[in-house]
Amino acid sequence: METEQELYSGKAKSVYTTADPDKLILHFRDDTSAFDGEKTEQLERKGMVNNKVNAFIMTHLERAGIPTHFERLLSDNESLVKRLDMIPIECVVRNITAGSICRRLGVPENMDLDPPTFEFFLKNDELHDPMINEYHIRSFKWAGDDEIAVMKRLTFEVNDVLKALFLEAGILLVDYKLEFGRYHDEILLGDEFTPDGCRLWDAVTREKLDKDRFRQDLGGTVEAYEEVAIRLGVDLS
Ligand code: ADP
Ligand code: UDP
Repeated sequence: METEQELYSGKAKSVYTTADPDKLILHFRDDTSAFDGEKTEQLERKGMVNNKVNAFIMTHLERAGIPTHFERLLSDNESLVKRLDMIPIECVVRNITAGSICRRLGVPENMDLDPPTFEFFLKNDELHDPMINEYHIRSFKWAGDDEIAVMKRLTFEVNDVLKALFLEAGILLVDYKLEFGRYHDEILLGDEFTPDGCRLWDAVTREKLDKDRFRQDLGGTVEAYEEVAIRLGVDLS
């Protein structure tokens, strides 16, 4: 499948149209950004590792019955996906406290959350992705009632499937962000699931194996992503 024209270039991926109007190519770049694009760097190999980790996880989710946009890997840095009408909302589940919830609620990092908690954010860099609730989503018609229900259900189903997958690899799934989109009359999981968009800690030492290494200048970001890939059994060759 050949790329036609660039549709969109985001902070970490570029999106291309193809000859098939229902399919897009996602190109995972080495660009790494944090704090709404304020901090950026090129991290060699990150695009390739994320593309392959994402393919592995999306395939695993499909097998577990979660409908996703993922079609197939095309090359080291590219994957073919279904073209979605993206819903501009980020769905976040947290199993352990970290990141913005600690700042917003004044809670310490590393508290186990039982039950896990759920948050919606509006995808808008200029506004720094503000937290929103279901009433905002309905009033501003970003999504309908049924769509909200599907996004919540699928986001929690992903938690059950991926908590188990990562735990087998000796990794705790701390939190993650998902994006969904419309495909004909279905809601599918879109975008990516990689260490760029979730928090992953070593189950024994609680060492960070995700983008917090970049955010917090801990070093070894790509090495940590590769460690996650190797533990999951992702083929990086
Ligand atoms: P951002 O836009 O947040 O900077 P990226 O660099 O990852 O993020 O850009 C990828 C963009 O592609 C995002 O805006 C995402 O919502 C969008 N996207 C992801 N999957 C699909 C899809 N299947 N169809 C259409 N758009 C998609
Ligand atoms: N996240 C993301 N994109 C965003 C905001 C958050 O992928 O634009 C992910 C982030 O990596 C983490 C989870 O969502 O795994 C929760 O992020 P949080 O609200 O704690 O914000 P942060 O402090 O990471 O900016």
